[in-house]
Amino acid sequence: MQLRDTPDQQRFREELRAWLRATLPTLDPQPSQDDWPARRAHDSHWQALLHQAGYAGLNWPAEYGGRGATPTEHLIFLEESELAGAPYVGVNFVGLLHAGPTLIAEASPEQRERHIPAILRGEEIWCQGFSEPDAGSDLAALRTRAVREGAGGEHYVVNGRKTWTSHAEVADYCELLVRTGPPDGPKHQGITWLIMPMDTPGVALRPLMTAGGSTEFSEMILEDVRIPVANRVGQEGDGWRIAMVTFAFERGTGFVSEVVWARRRLVEIAALAREKAAWEDSQTRRRIARLAAEFDALWALVKRNVSEAEHSADGVPGPGSSVFKLRFSEARQHLDDLHAEVRGRDALAFDDELCTYDGEPGYERLRSLAYTIAAGTSQVQRNIIGERILGLPKEPSAAKGGAR
Ligand SMILES: Cc1cc2nc3c(=O)[nH]c(=O)nc-3n(C[C@H](O)[C@H](O)[C@H](O)COP(=O)(O)OP(=O)(O)OC[C@H]3O[C@@H](n4cnc5c(N)ncnc54)[C@H](O)[C@@H]3O)c2cc1C
Repeated sequence: MQLRDTPDQQRFREELRAWLRATLPTLDPQPSQDDWPARRAHDSHWQALLHQAGYAGLNWPAEYGGRGATPTEHLIFLEESELAGAPYVGVNFVGLLHAGPTLIAEASPEQRERHIPAILRGEEIWCQGFSEPDAGSDLAALRTRAVREGAGGEHYVVNGRKTWTSHAEVADYCELLVRTGPPDGPKHQGITWLIMPMDTPGVALRPLMTAGGSTEFSEMILEDVRIPVANRVGQEGDGWRIAMVTFAFERGTGFVSEVVWARRRLVEIAALAREKAAWEDSQTRRRIARLAAEFDALWALVKRNVSEAEHSADGVPGPGSSVFKLRFSEARQHLDDLHAEVRGRDALAFDDELCTYDGEPGYERLRSLAYTIAAGTSQVQRNIIGERILGLPKEPSAAKGGAR
């Protein structure tokens, strides 16, 4: 692993910085969190600008519209964009951070041709239809059923319910896990990964309100939804393995730019603590120092994981992504707790005219609770680390199989 930029990487970094300096002031402000059409327009516009400038899909293949750069250059892109305060991927989260990479690794050339360039241009928004009311950590227990129909069995008819589907309201496509094997068969073997167009008849959405008052999730009800067999990624029954590829990207690279954000936030918290009495408390100073060390270590881990993926045959992050996901999500919660304590009363504010802080501290704190749940809970990551990295025996399970 190289810790310093090569001359080519340094040149790339400087060109990108200059482009960000020139482009960011031209952007409209971020729309309100629940104005979904405006959020889609804003995030898609940013993605289109990146695409026109050659900064979309840094390490995606050039034949599908990516730049064909190395994962290290991709990391430089994430670091510089975050340092410059560029918009986050927003509603493009699923498409850019895990559905797109899964298609590159597993889909047919026709499927890649159809979807990858559109994702990169910001024209196609994706969501993830994995979780169900009774299948979260134990994802392999999913029951949404897909049965082949048609004269030559040319489409699947899908029935079931998905939940916690982020950004479903603005999505064009869904990475959908369905059960194609018998309901009472081995649960990991009967799962299939499908591309579902969200405008297919039979797809209904019911928005779910979060504790922070946002409607970023939906429940997705699927009734006789007909999906062409041509939309299947990989073989029928091989969906569990493909879902693990999706998770490797989601956990391994999905939160990388947030480490840069968290390091900046910690500097702000330290400055705030100095202004207030909080700095007099040695516990507060110790917590700031611990978190600084933790985020530095996480950044080094990101570089290690990226370097490992760069040298692997398939470019898919390994189980080290679970170490990153576990440590980052827990450190991120400690950061928000510390921020709240240092800020004092303002930290409880949502829409409060007495709040002196120009941010959404109450919302941020509630939102941080989700970090240790989304993309697989901390307990599940500990199980994966125990079994796949430390080689400990599998946890006992009443049913055959295990957790996501
Ligand atoms: C912000 C956010 C966004 C999300 N977006 C999506 C999305 O777009 N698409 C999607 O499909 N899903 C999404 N999810 C759902 C997410 O993947 C699930 O919430 C998560 O996998 C946990 O499942 P569950 O909520 O059913 O909890 P459960 O699985 O019911 O878990 C409840 C508790 O039991 C613990 N537990 C369960 N099994 C074990 C075990 N074997 N060992 C030890 N402890 C265990 C868990 O850690 C947890 O603390 C999102 C969740 C959040 C918070």
